[in-house]
Amino acid sequence: SLLQDKVAIVTGAGSGIGKSTALLFAENGAKVVVTDINEENGNKVVEEIKATGGEAIFVKADTSKVEDSETTVNKAIESFGKLDVAVNNAGIGGPTQAVGEYDIDAWNKVININLNGVFYGLRYQIPAMVKNGGGSIINVASILGAVGFANSSAYVAAKHGVVGLTKNAGLEYATKGVRVNAVGPAFIETPLVKSSLSDEAYNALANMHAMERLGQPKEVAELFLWLASDKASFATGAYYPIDGGYLAK
Ligand code: NAD
Repeated sequence: SLLQDKVAIVTGAGSGIGKSTALLFAENGAKVVVTDINEENGNKVVEEIKATGGEAIFVKADTSKVEDSETTVNKAIESFGKLDVAVNNAGIGGPTQAVGEYDIDAWNKVININLNGVFYGLRYQIPAMVKNGGGSIINVASILGAVGFANSSAYVAAKHGVVGLTKNAGLEYATKGVRVNAVGPAFIETPLVKSSLSDEAYNALANMHAMERLGQPKEVAELFLWLASDKASFATGAYYPIDGGYLAK
């Protein structure tokens, strides 16, 4: 198995891409620390992993709170002895408004979760991995970490920030065995995206991708799996779109 005996944190793992990642990592031998603000969903994912013979724990953690990020790393080490992999996945969309009218509180909330939350994660994950002789961190950005999307400024700014933060962390820890990469999914069919769109809007979104469809969470998790594994030994400080051809258009 690609992640045999590795210990992995996946934030926001109660739903969507994070859930798919936690399940795939467990299937590949990892011991998974599932975190989410949604206790019920997080616990369900842990139960699902255990039902198939895997190992997992749930930690209720809000990634926009510094102390929760520290606690998550401590719980990983207490429960499983070390930390090898972290996927900083928790994120929210935010309202659809032009910059000149963007709700200030909503801006701060999106930046706190989607950008500051990734920094808080790195801040505690990296020292634990350095201590352990190395590790792999995957920061979930978006195609909107590379291009704009009208009326989504907070999200676009946060995701561009995540890509920059990833480059810096990659540079700073390249010789210390800790690899840090960002992934840029295009639109993925998660509960969030599907439930919030009319059929017409859904089809318009699908057609922005060269493949004329949205991606599936598992198609993103497969890239995380590779980046998390020792097969990606030369990959660091980089941004990997996984986008059905969205950015090529
Ligand atoms: P989702 O809403 O299905 O899942 C996100 C999970 O994160 C939820 O379980 C939620 O409870 C949790 N969460 C929210 N705020 C949190 C916080 N402060 N602390 C801890 N957990 C929190 O969303 P998803 O589509 O799977 O998105 C996951 C990540 O992928 C996000 O960073 C998102 O920006 C990114 N992404 C999604 C898409 C897409 O089209 N779905 C595309 C590109 C990038």
